[in-house]
Amino acid sequence: MSHLLNLLAAIALLVWGTYMVRTDILRVFGANLRSILASSVRNRIRATISGIGVTALLQSSTATALIVSAVIVYTAWQVFKEASVTLSDAARIRASEICEVALGVGGVLGCHSVRTRGSEAEVYVDMHIQVDAARTVADGHRIAELTERTVAEHFDRVADVIVHLEPFDEYQAGKTNEEQRSGLV
Ligand SMILES: [Zn+2]
Repeated sequence: MSHLLNLLAAIALLVWGTYMVRTDILRVFGANLRSILASSVRNRIRATISGIGVTALLQSSTATALIVSAVIVYTAWQVFKEASVTLSDAARIRASEICEVALGVGGVLGCHSVRTRGSEAEVYVDMHIQVDAARTVADGHRIAELTERTVAEHFDRVADVIVHLEPFDEYQAGKTNEEQRSGLV
């Protein structure tokens, strides 16, 4: 359905672009064309030549209009594609890649619920990591901060990382396994 809408929008833009460029070309060169025509239709041979000339000019203006329109449509499509990824909140970086980096930090035993959003050049990450439940709050916090820094430094595009710290228990391990089974992590 969305593909059909995109196609219809592209066609509408193409038709509109063609119309705009054609109108402008005729507006700019129209007066000249008319005066050339007026002076050249006096005899049959000149009329034939000017007929061919005018046809060629109008044909080429249509071709120009089509090329310009195509460029406009292509650019609009690129902008639309980028905007739709941003607006639809699609993942910017694969969760598995981020978890791989996080699990490389000493003390991190599990990783899940990774979300990445933002623009192509500025990605925001939030994620859950699990550490040994017997660790102190201060120790867990140190690991969480280190994980935030490590992930942010590993990916150039990442502007900020928020880590939610959890104890590595059966429930959290189950959540990680569930995500791995469904191919999320
Ligand atoms: Zn969690």
